[in-house]
Amino acid sequence: MAAASSLVPQFSGLAVECERASCLSSTLFFHGVSSRRRLFSARRAPRGVVAMAGTGKFFVGGNWKCNGTKDSISKLVADLNNAKLENDVDVVVAPPFIYIDQVNNLLTDRIDISAQNCWVGKGGAFTGEIRSRAEQLMDMGCKWVILGHSERRHIIGEDDQVPFIGKKTSYALSQNLKVIACIGEKLEEREAGKTFDVCFQQMQAFADSITSWENVVIAYEPVWAIGTGKVATPEQAQEVHVAVRDWFKKNISAEVASSTRIIYGGSVNGSNCSELAKQGDIDGFLVGGASLKGPEFATIVNSVTSKKVAV
Ligand code: PEP
Repeated sequence: MAAASSLVPQFSGLAVECERASCLSSTLFFHGVSSRRRLFSARRAPRGVVAMAGTGKFFVGGNWKCNGTKDSISKLVADLNNAKLENDVDVVVAPPFIYIDQVNNLLTDRIDISAQNCWVGKGGAFTGEIRSRAEQLMDMGCKWVILGHSERRHIIGEDDQVPFIGKKTSYALSQNLKVIACIGEKLEEREAGKTFDVCFQQMQAFADSITSWENVVIAYEPVWAIGTGKVATPEQAQEVHVAVRDWFKKNISAEVASSTRIIYGGSVNGSNCSELAKQGDIDGFLVGGASLKGPEFATIVNSVTSKKVAV
């Protein structure tokens, strides 16, 4: 058999899109999801090669949440600066707001900075809103912002209805800030067979405020997997990613379906990232807890190599 490297001789981080016909598999994986919108076709890469179904570059984000001190963040940044990271990956970290400047001053240019949230519009009389308006984030060196994270939806109470998340999204994009747009179902929603319905509703709320998807990455983060140590199986994650890509095809365009990165988040770590990364529709990860350890985060970034090798 030809070596994998000769089958994918010039893997450049861009997706190696397999011929749709040859990728179709009748094998379906339904681990606990029973939705009316069950899927059609889970794709499988051609024999011997793991490929990405989308055309975007692998993307790994580290969400540091509300963690760290000046000292621990200096150590984490030093570890990241010393890490050997594969070239074919967009790497982004999201420090707490108050440490963004410190990180921006110390972190290598190889890694971009994201905020964990931002205000819905211009700044002004919003006492205590450390959620900076988009112009301030960019001023501090941020290129990205995480929006719609489940901890903001379900703990802080942000929702699609207001539409608070949508307003933030359109304002951030209008200021040239790129958006990591989070979606994902709660455990009870999964158990009720509503996984796809919830994700599609959240996708629609984002879509209502997005005119160009060029600067958007979708993070599928099942709420039951976030910070619980209970990672989705590769098949569970792949199933939803395929569904979201299909949603794009039906509701936006085939081109956006292919070019928009769909990353997975929820208890990803150095041990499980490689198997997840092999899934054709997983274009990277959003990582919480494991992103606080530099070497482990580097392992997750470098799991892109799983896409290059023969299976
Ligand atoms: C997150 O907060 O986006 C996340 C995925 O967290 P964890 O990796 O800790 O589950």
